[in-house]
Amino acid sequence: CGIVGYVGGHQAAPLLLEGLGRLEHRGYDSAGLAVLGGSAGVRVAKRAGRVRELADGLPRRFGGKVGIGHTRWATHGPATDVNAHPHTDTSGRVAVVHNGIIDNAAALRDRLTAQGVDLVSDTDTEVIAHLVAASTADTLEGKVRDALAVVTGTWGLAVVHADFPDRIVAARNGSPLLVGVGDKEMYVASDLAAIVRHTTTVAHLEDGELATVTAAGFSTFRDDLTRTTREATTLDLDP
Ligand code: GLU
Repeated sequence: CGIVGYVGGHQAAPLLLEGLGRLEHRGYDSAGLAVLGGSAGVRVAKRAGRVRELADGLPRRFGGKVGIGHTRWATHGPATDVNAHPHTDTSGRVAVVHNGIIDNAAALRDRLTAQGVDLVSDTDTEVIAHLVAASTADTLEGKVRDALAVVTGTWGLAVVHADFPDRIVAARNGSPLLVGVGDKEMYVASDLAAIVRHTTTVAHLEDGELATVTAAGFSTFRDDLTRTTREATTLDLDP
């Protein structure tokens, strides 16, 4: 339902929680976030219920300057803690938040299970985390491209990976996603409302596009990883 991501010089968790709070008006049943925390890899906190409850229950040590958050409106599987996003691969080094529906999730779940992968949720989204982890590409962009090459459906999504701790890779296909440009910090969001307090300089991804977002800037790609030119524009919002 709602996505927010942060890469920059500040602690990610409070910014992600604030952004999720600003997406609450869209309605949701669960909320969660994943933060890249140095040698600890990816830390995930998620639960059914309100963003407020997620914030209150957040472990004290949840430090890290790169992270992604999600408010879920369940389509595949009930609103439970396990089905809340982010979803991770078996190693816990990949975390994914996703808006939309993966149409061929059932077939992909069967294929992954046959390969010995233990799926822990009922969601369509979880397959993406396992597919990213299984890719042999040597960049996160390549791994996400490989995962998206076998899924069908709609997505706005954001991925973090402990082996690529400086970035978020985002993708859009039928579910809105934008990149927000700050001062030595960058945001990802499904809705400007999530980040508008921090920046109004944004670039909207198009369907079929991927974006790499680091603290220094962003680049966009087609799904074959050829570069696209997408300039950020500053919105002039009425006060
Ligand atoms: N299909 C996904 C799920 O059920 C994402 C739902 C959403 O857009 O929030 O978990």
